[in-house]
Amino acid sequence: MVKAQGPDASSISRLDQIKISQYFGCNTFSERTMRERLQKDVYKAYRQALKRGESLSPEVARSVALAMKEWALEQGCTHFTHWFLPMTGATAEKHDAFITWDEPGTVIERFSGSQLSQGEPDASSFPSGGLRATFEARGYTAWDPASPAFIMEGPLGKTLCIPTAFVGYHGEALDHKVPLLRSMGVLSERAKEALRHFGVNAESVVAQCGPEQEYFAVDLDLAQQRPDLMFANRTLQGAKPPKGQELEDHYFGSIKERVLGFMQEVELECFKLGIPAKTRHNEVAPNQFELAPIYEAANLASDHNQLLMELLKSVGERHKLAILLHEKPFAGVNGSGKHVNWSLATDEGQNLLEPGQTPEENLQFLYFLSATLKAIHTHGGLLRAAIASAGNDHRLGANEAPPAIMSAFLGGQLNHILDAIEKGDAADASTQRILDLGIGNLPAIEKDATDRNRTSPFAFTGNKFEFRAVGSSQPIALPLTVINAAVAEALEGLNAGLAAELKAGKEHKAAVMAVVKRAIVETKAIRFEGNGYSEEWKQEAARRGLPHAKDTVAALHTWESAASRSVFSKPGILSEGELESRLHIRHEQYQKAIAIETQVLRQMAETQILPSITADLGARADSLAKLAAAGISVPGTLKAALQAQATLAGEAQERLAAMKDSLAAAEAIEENQARTAAFGSSVNESKHALREVLDRLEEACDADLWPLPKYWQLLSPLL
Ligand code: ADP
Ligand code: MG
Repeated sequence: MVKAQGPDASSISRLDQIKISQYFGCNTFSERTMRERLQKDVYKAYRQALKRGESLSPEVARSVALAMKEWALEQGCTHFTHWFLPMTGATAEKHDAFITWDEPGTVIERFSGSQLSQGEPDASSFPSGGLRATFEARGYTAWDPASPAFIMEGPLGKTLCIPTAFVGYHGEALDHKVPLLRSMGVLSERAKEALRHFGVNAESVVAQCGPEQEYFAVDLDLAQQRPDLMFANRTLQGAKPPKGQELEDHYFGSIKERVLGFMQEVELECFKLGIPAKTRHNEVAPNQFELAPIYEAANLASDHNQLLMELLKSVGERHKLAILLHEKPFAGVNGSGKHVNWSLATDEGQNLLEPGQTPEENLQFLYFLSATLKAIHTHGGLLRAAIASAGNDHRLGANEAPPAIMSAFLGGQLNHILDAIEKGDAADASTQRILDLGIGNLPAIEKDATDRNRTSPFAFTGNKFEFRAVGSSQPIALPLTVINAAVAEALEGLNAGLAAELKAGKEHKAAVMAVVKRAIVETKAIRFEGNGYSEEWKQEAARRGLPHAKDTVAALHTWESAASRSVFSKPGILSEGELESRLHIRHEQYQKAIAIETQVLRQMAETQILPSITADLGARADSLAKLAAAGISVPGTLKAALQAQATLAGEAQERLAAMKDSLAAAEAIEENQARTAAFGSSVNESKHALREVLDRLEEACDADLWPLPKYWQLLSPLL
């Protein structure tokens, strides 16, 4: 038996114990480990399948599984689990011990190859959006060979986790991974077709992603005293603190030791798991932070982001920190997003969104850029729908996050080039010393010349696009699937256009320019370089006819349009049934999120806040009575203040009743869309109305009697 290589992961407890490169991925069944442990021909077959995006043959799968099992047992794993991403958005796992009966009363470690490559969890309790009747509960999980198996260390032992896709009995996608993998496959095919026109024969083209993860850290003891943070992941009540983020002194500030200790432990865990954590820094709001990894293939980045979100929470608890991934944990303070950086690369590592050195490469770059613009132009509404959630509704369009209108920012240089091409003046694009299109003899584009525009939801940043509207708690798989699907469709159109131009006898460069120019003209409406937060942009966008779904209720309608459906169903990324089920689940999740918030706020108001207010009023009234009894005249203003507070408490009571009524009314609505609409309007409004009064009551209440940690406490520096 081959001995495990490298250091023993469980003995590494400090970032600087040994070089990161020496233990990176030591808790994964990585490519390196596979190369060491698999027979040469098996490893070669595995690599080939990966490179081509194909699945493993049964023989190869069996050999890989055997090696994986040996490795896991050597590492001391006692259990294994298929790890998957059901449509709840959280990850799911069911652990099995490696043991089986030997003779009566004794067990031996056993684990078959097929157990590794396929699992059959009882899946009846996962949401399927009606895809699967409960009597047909069977679901299958199958290993995604592009995502390495990894070991989770528990307090008393280790578990082998196998990243899997989750499908139903008839092969229907029950998770977020399957559609993502399908979209990557389709995009690869379309991109390869396009590349052939440029004389490039790629084996595959892979969507790349680097998701920047924002989060808040709050003292765990304080957070545990707030039912809203525990159950809804955000504060449902809370008066503004005297000092919020006005001074903007937190952004990129020095990281306090307690938080640094937490971040370093997260990074240590990340490195062991092969997650390439790269940057850490303070964000704009107090107690808000960010971690960004180095980009990877989109499916791997998606798995790693899910893992990261779990690590943040579990490591946080060890440091007595509650990690809040919600899009808007605190009113009046910036929310958290996830900037999903996206690009396309060939298996040889050529980034297709990187301006090139030669005229031919630059033409190719413009071609892929045009396809991406076309995708956003055609499916901006769908992109918006992909990131719609009850949580993100609080963030999008607020003065801190990208607007809910999807537009693309290219930066001055590129814009100039596209404008010149549109005017039919390609020579001008070249003579601006910007991009060599082979018309003049000029230098190539400066790569880092794109200026920054933080207000744009979809910004080109030199060699990739940055989709900034994704919420911090959302799985990135769905937005990535939408981008991939939309760009694949756009490429299909461009490829057909190019083929037609060539067939009509146009010379290659002229044909490409004709196709690119057409795309530039067609997509002009989504190009916007100005301030995306401004009111003028909203009006301008309306004039341009861009869709503007203000909230989830509006955004979900986009899923129903024929164009939205066909971008998924035509290339087989999601069937009509799979689409329907996803839409159903989106409605359900939205309704549930708001229902939970309403229940939690009801409970806080009824059992914590209002009793405290009453106690406060009673105590003050007693004090006034005592003063009067002592012959001290009580000023009318004091009585009036007390009266005003009592009146406000009465108002709160009324608004509480109204909120309960609105929840009951919404829940009684049978029809799904109408129910979603009711949650988004009357229930949300009644919650907001109650909060508004409770916040005012908090400001007047005796601080010693106030039952909840206040904003200023939650957002105090973590020392
Ligand atoms: P900024 O905050 O300035 O945007 P960060 O360093 O915080 O920069 O994050 C940039 C992210 O973009 C990182 O996750 C990085 O890996 C990712 N990224 C860089 N190049 C690419 C690329 N070609 N494709 C996808 N993601 C990329
Ligand atoms: Mg960043």
